[in-house]
Amino acid sequence: MQSITILGATGSIGISTLDVIARHPDRYKVHALTAHSRVAELAALCERFQPQVAVTGSAGAAAELSRLLAAKGLAIEVGYGEAALCDAASAPECHVVMAAIVGAAGLAPALAAAHAGKKILLANKEALVMSGRLFMDAVAASGAQLLPIDSEHNAIFQCLPHDFGRAPQQHGIAKILLTASGGPFLKRAVDTLDAVTPDEAVAHPNWVMGRKISVDSATMMNKGLEVIEAHWLFGMPARQIEVVIHPQSVIHSMVSYVDGSVLAQLGNPDMRTPIAHALAYPDRIASGVAPVDLAEIAMLRFERPDFIRFPCLKLAYDALEAGGCAAALLNAANEVAVEAFLNGEIGFRMIDQLIARVMDALPAEPVSDIDALLEQDRRARSLALSFIQR
Ligand code: NAD
Ligand code: MG
Repeated sequence: MQSITILGATGSIGISTLDVIARHPDRYKVHALTAHSRVAELAALCERFQPQVAVTGSAGAAAELSRLLAAKGLAIEVGYGEAALCDAASAPECHVVMAAIVGAAGLAPALAAAHAGKKILLANKEALVMSGRLFMDAVAASGAQLLPIDSEHNAIFQCLPHDFGRAPQQHGIAKILLTASGGPFLKRAVDTLDAVTPDEAVAHPNWVMGRKISVDSATMMNKGLEVIEAHWLFGMPARQIEVVIHPQSVIHSMVSYVDGSVLAQLGNPDMRTPIAHALAYPDRIASGVAPVDLAEIAMLRFERPDFIRFPCLKLAYDALEAGGCAAALLNAANEVAVEAFLNGEIGFRMIDQLIARVMDALPAEPVSDIDALLEQDRRARSLALSFIQR
């Protein structure tokens, strides 16, 4: 029996994870569930999954949760804040950690899981994008197991040899082909993009996801973050990671080998497939996802990405090439810009402009520890905010 901590249990990935877990009560139980502010939802999940621990974002939310749990007659330890998240992710009773908090807020608990040598199922790409080598070093030092949940990276992982060991050159791998749907604005006239509303931007054609990643998909910053994520997960240089637009999201990504073979992983666009894959790896378990009906799909389409329509993708490649803390600056500026866009404070095209200004203004200094990294993250956030308030 594997005991699981789900960081971000009330989110889109958290709920899909619990759906898969509920199908296999003989294999999995829940150690801890965490949520930032949706206390009533967290209480309902606690009632259903009976964790030992529940964590919220604030003392007020924790008090409210304790009250709701007491009313249900549930004896569950309640904590709040970053230290409690880190404890839930590193507790000796927990074997597996689903890292599904959105954004930089997930870095500390994901790192705590890495230091504690857990099996980490990584959905929270921002944590790896920010910390890159520091995160991979923590995983290597503790012997933690890092399995990708992002559907593209999970697909790539499935198309790589088992003994891959982050050494593409030793396995005849020519390229990673990262597929991208192109989001809701793939065909919209570029000169009308500044007028798009948050509701239009979060209406993804194929996937139902949280609001931040949905906006990232509309700007294609999501794919940019995924290029950086692929670099760290698979040890692949930027020039060997190619983005291919594939609007149907049936092929989740591919690996191209030097002999001309291209291996792909296909599936319906439902995150329960990569979640079930990573949870059970190297076994296979049912996920509840319907099989692909190829005759129904009939045709798969592909095209090259357009950096003029999607400048965020270019900014992410540039950050990866620049090295140092550039990816952390990019991520921080993006988080500030996306939140401002969702709050109606800036237009859609201001997202890429704001990130470019932050990247131009701040040098990509090397960072050798997490404190230095977080200092750079703070610098980028405050500069981005100053551009919005001006
Ligand atoms: P979501 O917004 O639906 O859920 C986010 C979760 O994080 C919630 O449980 C929320 O309570 C928690 N949270 C938010 N802010 C927090 C904070 N400051 N401190 C602690 N907890 C906080 O997001 P999502 O779509 O589930 O995405 C989660 C992560 O998974 C993101 O990094 C995203 O890029 C990645 N991801 C998601 C999908 C998807 O299909 N949804 C696919 C690939 C990768
Ligand atoms: Mg993805």
